[in-house]
Amino acid sequence: MSVQHLQTVKNWYANANTTADTVNGLLDVIEYKLGLKPNQLMHADSMCCDDVNAIQYPPRAYEMLGPFHMGGLNGFPFAGVTGMNAFAHHVPEDGAVVVFYAPHIGITKDGTIGEIHRIGQSENSACCGAAKGALSKLLNNQIAAGNVTDLDYQMNTIEQIFLKQADRIKTASSQIFEATEVMYEAINERMEILVSKTNYPCKYVILIGAIFINGDKDMGSFCSYKRFDCINLATNGRISLMNDFYNIVAKS
Ligand SMILES: [Zn+2]
Repeated sequence: MSVQHLQTVKNWYANANTTADTVNGLLDVIEYKLGLKPNQLMHADSMCCDDVNAIQYPPRAYEMLGPFHMGGLNGFPFAGVTGMNAFAHHVPEDGAVVVFYAPHIGITKDGTIGEIHRIGQSENSACCGAAKGALSKLLNNQIAAGNVTDLDYQMNTIEQIFLKQADRIKTASSQIFEATEVMYEAINERMEILVSKTNYPCKYVILIGAIFINGDKDMGSFCSYKRFDCINLATNGRISLMNDFYNIVAKS
């Protein structure tokens, strides 16, 4: 990773940082504000099952317990209420659950969005492939309202999400950027519902919504936070830790 690569990413996502810096900041802010160590945190992620996310997963995230994977294609929480309930009941009682959810998108060294250069390949490939596939179908008017099949359930669900925002995506200056924003909003909305239907036998629920950005094979990955909320389960009060987080990352 170089400063130049981060700058390339920032041209699209102004508040992005490397995922290494992001996870350092995340763990620091939770310790500083809530007094919790990584082994008191049950981590769940809702990210695309694309292998590049495993390759570019930030190592320090494994200091938390987990992760429990809630996501399917492009990070939609397909594990649903059952998935959310499952890891909620694995959390240390004096600790917190940390739910990180993000659609992903590739950005190449030359700043092309929606693709990356993968290990051992001569050409770039789509990233997120599912999002680009659904976008292509949307642009070709190949998505039928309500068509969700057993055979390709996750992909069809993404297609329906895009279809509901067809005009917004089609008229955007970068359609894959806008489609990824649409995806984020759909994931964020679903997460709120899942959280409202779950009991957590611990002190805090931490919700982090973001865009996860994959670089070319030698660029590493990046993260742009959109929200960082902490719910105190004793009071049901909710605070944002976004400013604390970005202050800590800026100092590192
Ligand atoms: Zn993907």
